Amino acid sequence: MQDQLRRLPQVQTLLETPEAATLIALHGRADVTEAIRAKLEVTRAKIRAAAGATLQPVTAQSLFQEIGSELAAANAQTLKRAVNATGVIIHTNLGRARLAPEAIQAMQEVAANYASLELDLSDGKRGSRHAHVEALICQLTGAEAAMVVNNCAAAILTCLSALGAGRDVIASRGELVEIGGSFRMPDVITQSGARLKEVGTTNKTHLRDYQSAIDEDTALLLKSHTSNYSIVGFTSVPTRQELSRLARETGTILVEDLGSGVLIDLSQHGLNQEPVVGDVLKAGVDLVTFSGDKLLGGPQAGVIAGRRALVETIKKHPIARAVRIDKLSLAALRATLELYRPPHDPMARIPVLNMLAEPIQQVEARAHKLLSVLGAHGVLKSDLIETTARAGAGSLPNQDLPSFAVALTSPAQSVEQLASALRDAETPVIGRISKDQLLLDMRTVSEDEVALIADVCQSILPE
Ligand SMILES: *Cc1c(COP(=O)(O)O)cnc(C)c1O
Repeated sequence: MQDQLRRLPQVQTLLETPEAATLIALHGRADVTEAIRAKLEVTRAKIRAAAGATLQPVTAQSLFQEIGSELAAANAQTLKRAVNATGVIIHTNLGRARLAPEAIQAMQEVAANYASLELDLSDGKRGSRHAHVEALICQLTGAEAAMVVNNCAAAILTCLSALGAGRDVIASRGELVEIGGSFRMPDVITQSGARLKEVGTTNKTHLRDYQSAIDEDTALLLKSHTSNYSIVGFTSVPTRQELSRLARETGTILVEDLGSGVLIDLSQHGLNQEPVVGDVLKAGVDLVTFSGDKLLGGPQAGVIAGRRALVETIKKHPIARAVRIDKLSLAALRATLELYRPPHDPMARIPVLNMLAEPIQQVEARAHKLLSVLGAHGVLKSDLIETTARAGAGSLPNQDLPSFAVALTSPAQSVEQLASALRDAETPVIGRISKDQLLLDMRTVSEDEVALIADVCQSILPE
């Protein structure tokens, strides 16, 4: 054993080999030195544990092989482009909305250069970053004022902190939502420093429940869009108009968290009704909050829109500063919002809306195209099947979108192995498993990704 230990090379000796030089060029001297040290440590421990039994001889070559692949794995890029073939259009784990080319260009421009982020170009004084989108949001929603923060969760937290801290926030028991990523409305209310006062029941909350809960400690009434569930059957909630009248009469504020903020009436495009921001404000809601990267189809952002005096108060709160939006997202948001104005057609220009409304014949044609490219490779078994896609992220929760998928099976692998191989590819392709097949839903795949998917499928085949 002592002999084996003694025969192990020194760190310094290993560092001077050509193998080390190659790795140092790739990963830097510090990482390679550390990896050699760690590897020798592990090897020594193994020799001691073997207590004299014969072990595979340790060669510099075998050491470097292991170190090389370990360093490569540790430094591999984990955030990278992926193909979303899940059929979930706004897929939070896959980065939600794809941006319109206009939004991408706007980001590029402010990323590569300095920008008038907080500089008022008319007088050279300090300006507000909200100013770049405020007028547009007001125009598109009818709001008096607006501001933007990092995401919708931050928008709600900021609103509640600025308007409700130390006081009561009244919410219906049917609307105490939990959305993904451990965002639970009761917890957010508590975090803001406000106290949650629950009213009504799970299925029914009446106006009189709000009425009798309001007292001098009440700061606001909070309504939330039940975006990822629905309560059906014997149900009722007061209308926005009723709640708004009550808020006015009692000197409280009506806030509604919309989650997915829709700026246009999607029912005109054959989709389910989702509350349109402008209609909600018109119904008398004082403030709304909504996401930038859900149905709006822009970057991650949270919009707060409504009464001027309230928005101005929120803008000054320290939390607003802590969760402020960055220049890249702001540029992308502005460019996306522009696409809602004439002469643009948002349904055509904004990828999320485009995918939602794309005629089924086009989706089917794309599926046929993939099928024929894969057939030409002739390696995986592929079939065309009818399926349903989804908006995702709590948007249009009850909407089935007709779709077509290419269903893959591999003669040599289980469906889980196939899914995993496609995830591990240079460009990961993410499908969904159903009935022992891997479905590649074509509603969320773009025209130019068809060839890419075929290449990836080709690349994962065993040699
Ligand atoms: C999605 C959602 C949020 C959170 O939005 P993010 O932009 O992800 O922070 C809040 N409320 C509701 C109702 C939602 O659906």
